[in-house]
Amino acid sequence: MHMDVRGVVLRGVDYKESDRILTVLTDQNGLMTVKARGCRRKNSPLAAPAQLFAYSQMTLFAYRDYYTMQEAAVLDQFLGLRREIERLALASYFADVTQAVAVEGEPNSRLLSLFLNSLYALDKLDKPLELVRAAFELRCMVEAGYAPLLDACAVCGAAQPAEPLLHIQEGVLCCADCRAQAGPGRTAALSPEMLAAARHIAYGDAKRLFSCPLPAEQLGRFADLTADYLTQRLERRFQTLDYYLSVKP
Ligand SMILES: [Zn+2]
Repeated sequence: MHMDVRGVVLRGVDYKESDRILTVLTDQNGLMTVKARGCRRKNSPLAAPAQLFAYSQMTLFAYRDYYTMQEAAVLDQFLGLRREIERLALASYFADVTQAVAVEGEPNSRLLSLFLNSLYALDKLDKPLELVRAAFELRCMVEAGYAPLLDACAVCGAAQPAEPLLHIQEGVLCCADCRAQAGPGRTAALSPEMLAAARHIAYGDAKRLFSCPLPAEQLGRFADLTADYLTQRLERRFQTLDYYLSVKP
């Protein structure tokens, strides 16, 4: 049976002499494992679509639960990612997180768009990398069903809490004065600008994700917070994040 999908390569592992086993996030079928036969041979038409981060229109051949790439036309290769090690490192981290939250057989078009838009931002836009990282991390949690409740203090309901805190474990906002009633666990302080940025990223238009006005000196703290939130929700760390943090300027 043949199947036409659009998909982006999140991971590739060399197999046998010239094949590669790909983990692909697709529009039709969520996460899929696809074999690209002969793609490492010279002049193979599958060489480009089997590259990491390649986004292609593909025709797959399905036999039982196995999928093989028959042909593919590359829509974007995001080649600009490779101009700086920190961009490539961040893209690898985004791919790992996306793979961790995507589900086989379950399409999630917003997650696919988020990943592609984030690669595009790293490839073509001149945005601060820490902003791209924070926006991806927080929005990815929203698209994966772990949205924090940021509209008001979870205890007293104040829409603009004084000295707002994000309760990392509970994923809720509270005022400093309501902290004791918000339950045990860690909290992180948010500046008013960080709260506005978090709301923009979590609830705003996906197309304007990276147009978020946050003072440069607060970006690092904000990205630490979004990474902390993601790590808590997924209950795991990512080596690719540690690597990015070790090479970022
Ligand atoms: Zn409160």
